[in-house]
Amino acid sequence: MPEKEYVGSIKKCPNCGIVIESFQSKCPNCELEFNNDYLNQTVAQFADGLESIMMKRNNMVDYFEISTFSKIGKFKETQWESNDDTQQRYVENFPVPNSKEDLLEVFIFAISFINQKSETKYQITWNDIWTNKLKQIYIKSSIAMSDDQETLDYLKQLASEVGISL
Ligand SMILES: [Zn+2]
Repeated sequence: MPEKEYVGSIKKCPNCGIVIESFQSKCPNCELEFNNDYLNQTVAQFADGLESIMMKRNNMVDYFEISTFSKIGKFKETQWESNDDTQQRYVENFPVPNSKEDLLEVFIFAISFINQKSETKYQITWNDIWTNKLKQIYIKSSIAMSDDQETLDYLKQLASEVGISL
């Protein structure tokens, strides 16, 4: 199975090229399956838990439409449903890891959910949830990596690329 193609922080399906979410194991457009074996174990666990909640959503979130068509308004905006409350609790309560490697990987995972291009109320709410998680991870990182300013600067840099100042 091919790996997802990473272009900056945007992930695209290597087969059809649509933008995909980092946790997705299968392309929602062409159904190509991705190889997630390279995933860090903590991230894999985080992603699996999130995906299993999300699968129970009444209406699937169309990330492709949100990212592509929001500017011209040709889509029905995704509505918050009780499943999102469950997802939110899951994200907020997922334990921030302790090791440097896990912190780095989970940080990058969290950042992949922040989509500054979308102006939908739904995405803005999720941006806030992930921003809070990112801050949580950064606080712990700044303790665990107190002797590694270079990596901390790198995390700050990644955050600033999606408009978050840490
Ligand atoms: Zn595809």
